[in-house]
Amino acid sequence: MKAILTKIWEVVRMRSLRARIFLILLLVGTIPTILMESVIVKTYELKAVEQRSSVVQNQLKILANHLIANEFLSNYNPNSPNKLESHEIIEAELDMLANIYEGRVMIIGSNYRVLLDTYNIAEGRTMISEEVVKCFKGENISNYDSEHGYIEITIPIVNTTDDGDSNIKGVMLTSISDSNITATMTSLNRNSAAFEIIAIVLVMVFSFIISGAMTRPFERITKAIAELKAGYSNDPISVRSYTETVHISDAFNQLQSRMKTIDDSRKEFVSNVSHELKTPLTSMKVLADSLIAQPDAPAELYREFMEDIASEIDRENSIITDLLALTKMDMSTQELNITSVNIGDLAEIILKRLRPIARKKDVELTIEENREIVADVDEVKMSLIMTNLVENAIKYNKEHGTVKVTLDSDIQYFTFSVEDSGCGIPEDSLPLIYERFYRVDKSHSREIGGTGLGLAITRSAVLLHRGTITVTSEEGVGSVFTVRIPLSYTTEVQI
Ligand code: ADP
Repeated sequence: MKAILTKIWEVVRMRSLRARIFLILLLVGTIPTILMESVIVKTYELKAVEQRSSVVQNQLKILANHLIANEFLSNYNPNSPNKLESHEIIEAELDMLANIYEGRVMIIGSNYRVLLDTYNIAEGRTMISEEVVKCFKGENISNYDSEHGYIEITIPIVNTTDDGDSNIKGVMLTSISDSNITATMTSLNRNSAAFEIIAIVLVMVFSFIISGAMTRPFERITKAIAELKAGYSNDPISVRSYTETVHISDAFNQLQSRMKTIDDSRKEFVSNVSHELKTPLTSMKVLADSLIAQPDAPAELYREFMEDIASEIDRENSIITDLLALTKMDMSTQELNITSVNIGDLAEIILKRLRPIARKKDVELTIEENREIVADVDEVKMSLIMTNLVENAIKYNKEHGTVKVTLDSDIQYFTFSVEDSGCGIPEDSLPLIYERFYRVDKSHSREIGGTGLGLAITRSAVLLHRGTITVTSEEGVGSVFTVRIPLSYTTEVQI
């Protein structure tokens, strides 16, 4: 019910594509029909009036010739008891004409005096109207007054002498009814109104069907997306009816596959996290259980197992710390606290901190600073990058090995590279080492306290500084990690 009301509301507000197509088709279909109808009716009216005027004009011309031939204008006296027979015939002809056309005929003499009026009202009166004056100048005039329903025709009564001279002796002023034209027009209007209603209904039905058919592909897309949302299928959608629907389907499928990749990587990450967090817990449980199983276990055994449990807790702790660091780094709202930092001084501090670990393995730690470098970086994250790389170089090194840190810069970037004489990384593992929880040798890494998150954190921190990290490595010889970071930090991407 709510969906239907929403649809109706959309139609009313003209936000629906279907409603717009419907309205356009309706207007395109009906406006020309209505215009054509009224043009046809109007043309008929004009033609009918023109035809009727011309018939009456012809008859009036014949009568005008009779009037001249019988010297009607000069000799006619309406009140005389002894009228000429020819004049009586003319009177009868004029009456007949007036009757046939349901009108009135007046003969006006040269002094503008009405000689004869078939209504017998205006005889003897003077008639000076615009039409009469114009007609005395030789013009044939025909006017149609549709409001009052008559046609007025004025023609001059011309006497042409034998030598070809013509002069106007009088004027015939006629008004005839348009009743039969009006009757035809009324029936025409009635018929055309009926036709228009039928045409509008047909156009409405047609527009409704066509608009529905034209918008159906979009409804199919909406339905397909709704089905995906409801989880019925994961198949790509395909509505290839229009170029537009192909574009929408393709864009949606791309978005869907991207979302699937993100979802898969999220699932993998969650499963990795659970596994990594579970491993120390399982060890602790085994240690605790074996102590419980031996009620008489000596104090030394207790101490040894408790030390193991403590080291597992440390491990769990370091995984959680790394995970938190990584999550923080991943957040889009992550903001860097950029300050001007002396990179050489920072590297010295980091190396000083890591020297005790290096000493344990008798690894020689050296630094080469080619020039003084001051860069705009986040000091905490920069220390994280340096610590992780140098710590790895020590961890994965052999006894009595070497680690060499080199600092250099050009106009735009500074580089920080860490070269070790360790075990190296197999070639097929190189693209994977930045993945979360990836370790070349899981058990060895666990042994030396690796979480598999160090390089993922390092890479995120480098990317936040709009820098790059690269590695070259040879198994059994050693690895070189190089970080390249812009000297000054800008929010725009540098190419
Ligand atoms: P971890 O905490 O296990 O060290 P990292 O993300 O820092 O995790 O490193 C991922 C893996 O890459 C390590 O497990 C190790 O196998 C390999 N690796 C990293 N640095 C070095 C290095 N300098 N020499 C050899 N292998 C390395």
